[in-house]
Amino acid sequence: MTSTTEKHIFAKQVLTEAGWASDVLIKVDCNGVILELKPDAEIEANFSGTRLQGALIPGLPNSHSHAFQWAMAGLGEKSGKGGDSFWTWRQAMYGFVDAIQPEDLQAIASALYMQMLKAGYTSVGEFHYLHHNTNGSAYDNPAEMSQRIFESARESGIGLTLLPVFYRYSGFGEQAPNAGQKRFIHDQQAYAGLIDHVAKLSEQYQQSFGIAPHSLRAVNHQDLSFAIEHLNSIDSKAPIHIHIAEQMKEVNDCLDFSGKRPVEWLMEQQQVSERWCLVHATHMTAEEIKAVADSKAVIAVCTTTEANLGDGLFSMLEYKQNAGRWSVGSDSHISVDATEELRWLEYQQRLAQQSRTLLVEAEHSSNGLWLWQQAATAGAQSLGQKAGVIKVGNQADFIELNTDSFALLGKEQNQLIDAFIFNHQLSNDAIQSVWVKGQCQVKEGGHMHEDAIRKNYQKSISRLRQCIN
Ligand SMILES: [Zn+2]
Repeated sequence: MTSTTEKHIFAKQVLTEAGWASDVLIKVDCNGVILELKPDAEIEANFSGTRLQGALIPGLPNSHSHAFQWAMAGLGEKSGKGGDSFWTWRQAMYGFVDAIQPEDLQAIASALYMQMLKAGYTSVGEFHYLHHNTNGSAYDNPAEMSQRIFESARESGIGLTLLPVFYRYSGFGEQAPNAGQKRFIHDQQAYAGLIDHVAKLSEQYQQSFGIAPHSLRAVNHQDLSFAIEHLNSIDSKAPIHIHIAEQMKEVNDCLDFSGKRPVEWLMEQQQVSERWCLVHATHMTAEEIKAVADSKAVIAVCTTTEANLGDGLFSMLEYKQNAGRWSVGSDSHISVDATEELRWLEYQQRLAQQSRTLLVEAEHSSNGLWLWQQAATAGAQSLGQKAGVIKVGNQADFIELNTDSFALLGKEQNQLIDAFIFNHQLSNDAIQSVWVKGQCQVKEGGHMHEDAIRKNYQKSISRLRQCIN
């Protein structure tokens, strides 16, 4: 929520649109938007605003989240019979889904978003598909679960773009949904009604929204066009997210059904543009890579989840060569750490290429800076939010790096970001504070509402554990 008055912040170092600046006075309006950014400012001895001694960098938008999955992170690491796969993991996930009540979803999402803030994410795109009651019927308020997510964003203070998922089928060719999917399913009219509710809620909670047709296997061509048209009737710029090519099985099923690969099919059938976010574009040909890059859509790379689920390696270098836009998402939340998503995006390439510092702007430039800035700007684009760069007119979403921490001590400017990402320490104290729309949500590692959020989470987890065992 925003404050009622203008806020003044004086920061020692700030990474601005024009590069690093010192002694910066930042004025933030009552809606959390940066009004003025004044480098080399002198302040009065009796300055009544906030003084920040660390270095400010833009907060990172998290483009892809399924909040409830966090409560089962770490539970899918026991080997299965005859080899484990994404599809056996998904079956286990469906078992867990059956037990979650609205208050559990809220407790889990609030705790998760709090952890995200502590880990450097200032906003999140919630790809939300747990819509209905445990028996598959709609709640009295069909947007009950969506509203719980808005409440979690309010409790934690994170910026939210809610992306209600449109899910109809269990596979290509309109295969009937299975029992594990009963809480996800809508027909076109019910989905349009949900979007109408969510549009109102986003206004009420001063947050953003978009749509998320789940995947090409979960909706048909008409459903996809219907959802986009309905969204356009409310907001023709709001984001559209879709899972696109995570697993080879999905690519092969799409080929069998349509004769086209998923990215190829989507690029031919829809006007893919800047408002699109393709999640897990893991399996693409050179032509598909170029087409997505040229469309200016964002690809959400979920490095740690894609590794955890054994999806495959995203063609990051080829996509970069085509000037493709990309962001990161913590997806199943097997890791909630903005730096780890970026560090391993780079490390995957180092291991594959037997080389170093591959994801950079040019020779002799900072690896960390390129990773952070690309993910921040494209992340904000994917969420339809004015953020990702600290500049006038954007939301005051930033993190203050602790220049006295073990990881960052003695580093300057771009070295601070390099060390923040690559000099990773357990019990990291590199983040001093985290700000969303000009409000401080995390200070010295602690969240403003840590105790209450933790208590609710513990209550839900102990109840859920009994339901599952
Ligand atoms: Zn996902």
